[in-house]
Amino acid sequence: MAADSGLDHLSNGTHPITGRIITCKAAVVWGPGQPFRIEDIEVDPPKRLEVRLRILFTSICHTDLGSWIAENESQRAFPRILGHEAAGEVESVGEDVEGLVAGDKVVPVFNGECGSCRACRSEKTNLCFGYAVDPARRVMRADGAVRFFLPAAGGTCRRPIYHFLNTSTFSEYTVVDSACVVKIAGDSPPLSRLCLFSCGVSTGVGAAWNAAKVEEGSRVAVFGLGAVGLAGEEMGITDFINPKDCTKPVHEVAQGARLRGAAQIIGVDINPDKFTKGEEMGITDFINPKDCTKPVHEGWGLTVVLGVYTSPRMLPLHPMELFQRKITATVFGDFKPKSQLPNLINNYLNGEIKLNLDGLITHELPFAEINQAFKLLSEGKALRCLLTL
Ligand SMILES: [Zn+2]
Ligand SMILES: [Zn+2]
Repeated sequence: MAADSGLDHLSNGTHPITGRIITCKAAVVWGPGQPFRIEDIEVDPPKRLEVRLRILFTSICHTDLGSWIAENESQRAFPRILGHEAAGEVESVGEDVEGLVAGDKVVPVFNGECGSCRACRSEKTNLCFGYAVDPARRVMRADGAVRFFLPAAGGTCRRPIYHFLNTSTFSEYTVVDSACVVKIAGDSPPLSRLCLFSCGVSTGVGAAWNAAKVEEGSRVAVFGLGAVGLAGEEMGITDFINPKDCTKPVHEVAQGARLRGAAQIIGVDINPDKFTKGEEMGITDFINPKDCTKPVHEGWGLTVVLGVYTSPRMLPLHPMELFQRKITATVFGDFKPKSQLPNLINNYLNGEIKLNLDGLITHELPFAEINQAFKLLSEGKALRCLLTL
């Protein structure tokens, strides 16, 4: 429950918090792989071109898992508030913010769009020069400082808490750049489901539609059907993919491929428990690499690599392996978040595109049980665990 602090209350009994510091709960991680601690934190008001959001739902994605373990030292920053897949509403806006007002229903996005830089004006990229995803960034752009603090105690100063992926959604309130906020139309959109558009659904569907350009009759192989890593090397043709990193949005990829009329969607995973769920999502055939006796090196096609990589390891790739084959990568499914996501969400809401979002949410827990949610995901038992704040 949030409370005012720092400034006096109004005499008429209302307690608007616009422009004030908010005290609220957040799940703070203090070191690599350490359990999350629910802390009372202070969230400063948004500065110029920033927005303060009330997070209502957040889910956990593999990028959170990787950053929690902090495999890549250059991306380490503690204490930190992770989380990047969420939905909520605007609490207040900073100076010069256009198109967003308090009360708007929104999803934050880790890959922002300013709308005016050369990248945003080009159709060739969705990586804005100013606000693109940056796993190493831990502070706000406006002033290189944070908006999260542990309250001062015993004469000490407030202790800063670092930001994560432009979003930091494991908190009742967060401050993000307005370039990283997508407004949803309507008064009462189903935020608990739209939360998934914040990362997984957009990335997965976009990978099939925009990056792979799956066509009617295509054959698609999806490597990794959930949270468990996959021994992709055994499949030969994809031995340059780190399966641990490509497991995240596969069910969304499968759904995207199905919607584009793929004739065959082959799910590849070393955990056969994932096959039942995969079938529900449109996967037509399954391969367990553990049952394969030899690598599959023949063939051609396009490989799309997904995910925000926490590992500094390079792709071990012999150039001749690319004969007849292409490899590419996608961030946020190549969607421009602010200009294209509202349309995708509308098409889902009006039934024009049929996505099984209920099937992706395998678990729902209160925010306070975030450690249990991480356990479920790391053990491969959950696809998406939705946390209610
Ligand atoms: Zn994600
Ligand atoms: Zn831009």
